[in-house]
This record gives sequence, C-alpha cells and structure tokens, in this order.
Amino acid sequence: MRNLIRPELLVEDVFSTCIGQVRNKELKKRLELCLDDVLEASDRFANLATISQLYTFQDHLCENNKVTIDEMKDIYTGRMASKKSRGRVYYDKLMSSPFNFTCPLCGQRKVSQLDHVLPKAVYPSLVVTPDNLIPSCPECNKKKLDAIATSSAEETLHPYFDDLGSERFLFASISGREPANIKFFIHSPPDWSDQKSTRLEYHFKFYELNTLYCIHAIDEIAGQAAFWDDLEVDELKEELKKQAKSRIKNNPNSWQSAFYAGMAEDEWFCDKGYNELLYKT
Ligand SMILES: [Zn+2]
Repeated sequence: MRNLIRPELLVEDVFSTCIGQVRNKELKKRLELCLDDVLEASDRFANLATISQLYTFQDHLCENNKVTIDEMKDIYTGRMASKKSRGRVYYDKLMSSPFNFTCPLCGQRKVSQLDHVLPKAVYPSLVVTPDNLIPSCPECNKKKLDAIATSSAEETLHPYFDDLGSERFLFASISGREPANIKFFIHSPPDWSDQKSTRLEYHFKFYELNTLYCIHAIDEIAGQAAFWDDLEVDELKEELKKQAKSRIKNNPNSWQSAFYAGMAEDEWFCDKGYNELLYKT
C-alpha cells in the first residue's frame, strides 16, 4: 500500500507508438480510427479514478466492430509488453517507477509485471492507457486477475490516484492467550472519508496483507530473538520503541513500523512472549 507518482506519459504517444509497428495495412487503418475513442476513454478513466467511481466505467470500443477485443489485447501484449516491441520503452518506464522496485499494492514484494486496473479482456480501450497500468508483484497480479468491482467499496486502492497521506493507518497487536498470535489491522485517520476508509479496509483484505505481514513478522522475530533474550523487559521495550521511531520516520505504514510500535507496547511480548510465537510455527 504505497502511492506512486502518476505517470506523465501521454496515451496518444503510447497508443500511436504501439500501433506504428502493425504491418497489416487494413488492421492498422482500423486501429488508427480508434485513437479518439482511446483518448476519450483515458480521460474518463482519470476522472472516475479521482472520485473512486471506476466501477461505473463502460467500454463500448468493440461494439461498433472497428476492432475486436483480441486485436486490442494484442496491442498491449505484442506491441508494449513484448521485449522486442517499440512500445516496450513505455512498459519499462512504468515498471521503473516504484521505490526500490517494491510493489505498491502490497508494499512488500518486488514488481515484475504491469497490472491492468480495469482488465484488458473487458476494457479494450484501456489496454495501453498509462493510468490503467500499475507495476505489481506476481502474487498481487494473480489475486487481481479479472476481478471487477461492482461498487466503490469493492475498489482496491489506486496508487496513482488515492493519496494515502503520511498519517499512520496500519497497526499491529498481539494476543498472548492461546494460541498466541500477531494481528495487523487498519485504523484510518479520523479525517478520512468513510469511502476512503472502506476501500483501504477492502484493499487490505483483498490482497491478504495480514497473512503476508505476519509471515514476515515471524521471520523478524526469529532473527532478533537471540539478541532480545539478553535484554530485560524495559530494555527491550526501549529497543523496540527506537526501532519503531526510525521505521515510522522512513514509512509510517510499513509492516515493520506497525510491528515494532505494536510490540513495544505489549508487556507479554517483551517478557519473552515472542518465543512462544516461534514455537508455534
Ligand atoms: Zn504486491
């Protein structure tokens, strides 16, 4: 869950470059006739993304039989994603935007492909629209697949359009009661709209981020346990607080920030309770 700077690429440039390679003159002519529709769809996409209403987007490009959905999908697959294509320069530009190649959807794994926010199998006019293409990791892309929201509440966050701000919204708590466990959860800032909070909650559940973060948290405990074993309860609390402060300064909503801040508060955890979490796994 990280913001990305919205790409400055023009859809007109991307689309024209991609279809510039088409050798079949008849197909090329039909694709050129789609440009106005593609530009209009791109503008409409941006307007709807700004107000969290992408689920209302309608795509009529292929209804007039100028082009087929498969022909439009091939513009992306064969002429933008393909390493030998002219459009690949735009693909690479979009892929290089996340800090440290980190997936903006989960904030943890590494990006390896572009994800269509509105899937290309259903929205042919948006196959190469930069605003519709988000760099993502394979797991997030697989979860998304052709999922289509039917309401604003079911729209996952869009890293180019949904400003997550700098306030904390990701937290972690621990339960020492059997079975001991860590839980990551969302608590939105009070000034967020209900719509934004609901979408963040949905995003967190949709991408199964609690499970992902818990796995990494247990790894972190395993790596730190021997060091923590030498500390008294109050010393460990202070150590965890320092770690939390530094990580929150770097990214207030990383799982590490939530984990260290949450654990620093927990008496059971700091009194060697963390070892029970290791024995459990
Ligand atoms: Zn991801």
